Amino acid sequence: MARPRQTSLKSFFQRPDAKEDTESGTPEASDVQSQTAPPPPEKKPKCRAYRSEWSDKFPWLRCEVVDGNEKMFCSLCEKAGRRNGFTRGSNNLRMSALIEHSQSNDHVAAHNLTPQQVAMKGHCDKATETSKKKLCSQLKIVFHMAKHVLPSNHFVAQTELLQALEAPDFVTTDGIYCHSDSVDDMEKALEHIVVEQIRKKLKNSDFIGIIIDETVNITVNKKLIIYLKLEIKGKVETCFLGNYDVDSGTARCIYDRVVAVLREMDIALSRVIGLGSDGASVMMGRHGGVGALFKQANPFSIQVHCVAHRAALSALDAEKAVENIRAYKNMISSVYSFYRHSATRTARLRQLTAALSDEDMVSLKQPCAVRWLSLHRAVEAMKHNWAAVVMEINEEAVGGNTQAQGLLGQIQTYSFIALTHALADLLPVMTKLNLVFQKDNVNLSSIRPIVQASVAAFTHLRDVPGPEEETFKAGYKDGTYKDVKVTNSSDRSIQI
Ligand SMILES: [Zn+2]
Repeated sequence: MARPRQTSLKSFFQRPDAKEDTESGTPEASDVQSQTAPPPPEKKPKCRAYRSEWSDKFPWLRCEVVDGNEKMFCSLCEKAGRRNGFTRGSNNLRMSALIEHSQSNDHVAAHNLTPQQVAMKGHCDKATETSKKKLCSQLKIVFHMAKHVLPSNHFVAQTELLQALEAPDFVTTDGIYCHSDSVDDMEKALEHIVVEQIRKKLKNSDFIGIIIDETVNITVNKKLIIYLKLEIKGKVETCFLGNYDVDSGTARCIYDRVVAVLREMDIALSRVIGLGSDGASVMMGRHGGVGALFKQANPFSIQVHCVAHRAALSALDAEKAVENIRAYKNMISSVYSFYRHSATRTARLRQLTAALSDEDMVSLKQPCAVRWLSLHRAVEAMKHNWAAVVMEINEEAVGGNTQAQGLLGQIQTYSFIALTHALADLLPVMTKLNLVFQKDNVNLSSIRPIVQASVAAFTHLRDVPGPEEETFKAGYKDGTYKDVKVTNSSDRSIQI
């Protein structure tokens, strides 16, 4: 006798009356069935659906559709702040699951809370949430202040500003930590997070480079600034580690401090393969310098003399060899000082500049030995203001000011204005090179071409006048430039 063909396991196990049971709508019946019938071999939750009559039996029950699926929640457990399947949302849409939950310890405890307790908890939660938001906003202010190097005592002013702007978390200043100690605490908490992030990055970097430099703070305490250079998945990242106190500026003292900091960050010296520093003998010294001490600890480590620093030093050495440049720098420093201490003179200079051209006055700059690109900016400002400066100083010289007479004798000369234009051709090349060296991540393959291009540009300018020099030569007519008389025009040699 032929048996009916079995199409699936489910059809084999399903009783013919099961469908009717499901449609009968009696939860008890289906529940009894789920307890007595053998478990289906293949679970298909989509076959089960929430039944609205369940909420009559369990008033705390709520059903919501989350991500397209029906889920059951317990409002009692939610109000009591419990954490269980029915506060996260249960997708076990069965009567047995509801009975099980209603008998669970969690639910019974939530059920036994008095209405007052529930209300109290609600208030506490709300208060915590509000203060949390306020605290977050305060931390953001402290972070902003730290990022922009603002002093801690600006904190109250910042919160008052936010209050005036009616920022949601600062409608009232109640509950805001204003004491300077609180600001310090918040800074420490933020620092902790930043250091933890650096620690995580450090774990992913097989090798580490260190960049260090000595400095002094405003109270003239010796400090050591440390940066780390990390390699993460083939990409180089530079991060600021800290500014640390050092007792003295000896190589041993600096080395010991760096090693102590590295130890604190769980960095073994065997991972430190690079040290970047300035060219001071305490750093670069072949026998007792900081680099040499690192090499003793790790023979594979290399030391790099900061290339931007080195380029600036070489330019400084070159200009020392040329008397004209030294004298020129002193002269523009003197002109800068002449105007720096007098608001009246500066105002007159500004009026003259406005009368001579439509352009605004570029403020005069001082060339400074420790600022690498300052000479370029000072030369640009002098070139821009030269005519107005000569006329203004001339007025004072005629009035009998001996300092003005001395300055006029120098800056009105042909060699001064010609040298200003020649330097305006030369210095941008140096500035461009220096800015490439100062980039956070330099592409090594681009270094050689740009150095070669810079050398070629210098060589070219030695033999052929640059665009600025040409402009000057074209504008110089009958012993005047920009309608201002040029003196000593017989001496036209510019020796650079
Ligand atoms: Zn519950």
